[in-house]
Amino acid sequence: MAIKRSSDNPEPPKQTRKKTSIKQSNYEVTLLSPQANTQESEQNEDKIRPQKLADYIGQKKLKGILQMAIAAAKEREDPLDHLLLYGPPGLGKTTMSLILAAEMGVDCKITSAPALERPRDITGLLVSLKPGDIIFIDEIHRLNRMTEELLYPAMEDFRLDVTIGKGQTAKTRSIPLPPFTLVGATTKAGALSSPLRDRFGIIQRLRFYELDELTLIVKRTAEILNAAITETGAIEIARRSRGTPRIANRLLRRVRDYVQVERVETITEELAATAMNLFDVDAQGLDWTDRLVLNTIIEQFHGGPVGLEAIAAATGEDRKTIEEVYEPYLLQNGYLSRTHRGRTVTAKTYRHLGYAPQEPEAKQTELW
Ligand code: ADP
Repeated sequence: MAIKRSSDNPEPPKQTRKKTSIKQSNYEVTLLSPQANTQESEQNEDKIRPQKLADYIGQKKLKGILQMAIAAAKEREDPLDHLLLYGPPGLGKTTMSLILAAEMGVDCKITSAPALERPRDITGLLVSLKPGDIIFIDEIHRLNRMTEELLYPAMEDFRLDVTIGKGQTAKTRSIPLPPFTLVGATTKAGALSSPLRDRFGIIQRLRFYELDELTLIVKRTAEILNAAITETGAIEIARRSRGTPRIANRLLRRVRDYVQVERVETITEELAATAMNLFDVDAQGLDWTDRLVLNTIIEQFHGGPVGLEAIAAATGEDRKTIEEVYEPYLLQNGYLSRTHRGRTVTAKTYRHLGYAPQEPEAKQTELW
């Protein structure tokens, strides 16, 4: 199986905005960000990515459905149905696509919507396919309209409709394509246009991982990296990983660095905790920005409800970063709730950040 990455128009690495009020290094920000935004982290990930469905930990329902789809497609000697995977970054969408290619014995070409800016980007990719190949398009909700429209007949009838010439002399030619599978990945299934969404035969959501699953992932990665770790050491890292394998692996690497510098051989619970506290990742996996967002809602907005714009303005964070990177985990884990009037912190947040629990009546009085 070959992995190919389209490097046309690579998106510039996302920059995290500098805080003005409190000093913070970018290092801490990227540590808990579920996005993979450097080439170095991409290469590192390739080494530890599971290669077979059996090594892919967790996501039982998804694995069951895909196992069946693979068996059926192989029996019919057809390519797999087009597949849409949605869910927060770092949960294993790219990994699953590569595993599917390996299981089907075909190549997987990896690209992302921002790299498919011009029509020739997608047409070039499609005409280079061999029968059964998989194209993985990350952030598929960001495709531009022209590219999306080229994909419709390609996905449905394995046909590329290209227009040659301009104005009245323009002609449309159809080029047959080999049968292929498109795997689309998105963090926002709702942002996909319905004609595109309807062309996927399988639509599956990836969930945040449970503690026991993440512990297995940490132990597996530690073995690949030749790092000795105790069971409780692995649990400690898993607990702070925000339900996300990419973060678990990244935290493990940083803890390993710490242990190495300290000249200790095995990662224990205590060492892991000390290292992660040093990196400002707290016992529940919240980092500096999470705490800034939650503290701001409590201190400046009486615990909410408050709109995203106001939170962004008060914290100096980018609105999209809050919405896409920080908020999903805070919502999923009951630190934030979202109502039509805005975001509100919960009793759990008050407890976690060491505030006195908020009485509903007291809050009411304060308002008046
Ligand atoms: P996504 O495409 O959803 O952003 P990736 O597929 O790139 O996420 O996964 C990020 C990293 O997490 C990979 O390097 C891989 O090693 C690890 N990973 C993801 N899912 C699993 C899993 N189910 N089991 C083991 N490791 C996983």
